[in-house]
Amino acid sequence: MAPSNAPTVDQTSELTQSGIQHTLEETAPSVAPQAPRAPPVLAELDASKIAFIRNRSPREVPAAHSPPVWSQSVCTDHMVAATWTATDGWGAPQLRPYGPLSLMPTASVLHYATECFEGMKVYRGSDHKLRLFRPNLNAARMLKSATRIALPGFDPKELEKLITRLVSVDAEKWLPRAQTNSFLYIRPTMIASAPNLGVNKPTEALLYVICVMFPSFDSPLETWPAQMAYLPDGTLRKPCLRLLASQHDMVRAWPGGFGSAKVGANYGPSLIAQAEARQRGYDQILWLFGEENNVTEAGASNFFVIWRTKEGKAELVTAPLGDKVILDGVTRRSLLEMARERLCAEQAGKYGFKEGLEVVERKFTMGEVMEAYNEGRLLESFVGGTAFFITAVSDIHFRGTDLVIPMTKSDTTGPYTDALKNWLKNIMYGREKHPWGVVVQETGVPPEPRQTQKLEYRARL
Ligand SMILES: *Cc1c(COP(=O)(O)O)cnc(C)c1O
Repeated sequence: MAPSNAPTVDQTSELTQSGIQHTLEETAPSVAPQAPRAPPVLAELDASKIAFIRNRSPREVPAAHSPPVWSQSVCTDHMVAATWTATDGWGAPQLRPYGPLSLMPTASVLHYATECFEGMKVYRGSDHKLRLFRPNLNAARMLKSATRIALPGFDPKELEKLITRLVSVDAEKWLPRAQTNSFLYIRPTMIASAPNLGVNKPTEALLYVICVMFPSFDSPLETWPAQMAYLPDGTLRKPCLRLLASQHDMVRAWPGGFGSAKVGANYGPSLIAQAEARQRGYDQILWLFGEENNVTEAGASNFFVIWRTKEGKAELVTAPLGDKVILDGVTRRSLLEMARERLCAEQAGKYGFKEGLEVVERKFTMGEVMEAYNEGRLLESFVGGTAFFITAVSDIHFRGTDLVIPMTKSDTTGPYTDALKNWLKNIMYGREKHPWGVVVQETGVPPEPRQTQKLEYRARL
């Protein structure tokens, strides 16, 4: 018999769940749902230990809408980086010059897709203030994604502080106060970096956060590069999305898989279909699942339809989170919460709508969408995600049939889509005071320390 103080190994519990629990106990006991079996020995992620290393060759900010901005490759002067090892835990984070990483060719991430990421934005408000939008949700989701692929855990509040620190230093130059209603894209990333080719749980990791310039897809089409502004047949596109429904030869995610985690492994294999969709004049794939063609999500955005039921009720419908096939989008959550609050039967009138919407999260099929379309019950459709925000869907191509979504407000959006989009935008840009819009105090780049030889010093958060 095993000695009584040896950890008992539960042979029956689910592997994924118990693996995540063990990772949390080892790497981030402060946020583990159960107390660890042994006292913690590894250092946890601690934003207060951040060291600042100034960028001594900062680059110029390219003009909005210029080719470098459209290339989505221009980052701000600094980045956050923190390393983790299985022997010591998290090291002191650094706020250091943006620049290349050094990895051995054997690094786990390069072979086994041990990578996860987040996508969020920092907004320059109409009131000139800097804001993040529900950053706690991104940080919490990053923890979920990381531990799903055996990367180390951390207290999400610490990640949120690191993100805040980066934007508080770099936004003054890269998102100037005068440039109201603009944003930068933030990409927190974690990779397994240990130089061992064995197919094993990561023993070293690197967490980093970069801030990327992004074109505004809301800007007039004239400011877009020609290859994006025109469809393959030479006509000017509309600022709406054209979706191509996936076919049986490709599945994005499946129950028991990892579609609900923002891990790199979900994206690479879908690019071949995405490129084909582009070739055929569509913007994104509408991912269907299973024999019944359940509608899941579109590209890297959640998907919504507004239809009238056969009984005549107006509904906002989107796929459910339950079987973990779709991503739990921050935009999705915010849209649903906002619609439940302001578009319910009792409130809709206040906002100028004759009729409220029922909000429904359930499985629905492409057949149901087709039927609603054919019976004139399909009212609006849109996608929601951070990168492309909320965009109306104008066309869905499904196995030889083109559904052209009716748009009653204008030919580029529907009235409910437009209202939801504006409400969220107003919070992001500070035109509506709301707890989802989190103001960031700007410090700018800290002044040079007195002793100029000393390049590195601790900056307090
Ligand atoms: C990131 C992402 C979304 C959108 O999530 P947000 O938090 O709203 O940005 C939706 N689907 C997939 C597959 C994604 O990767």
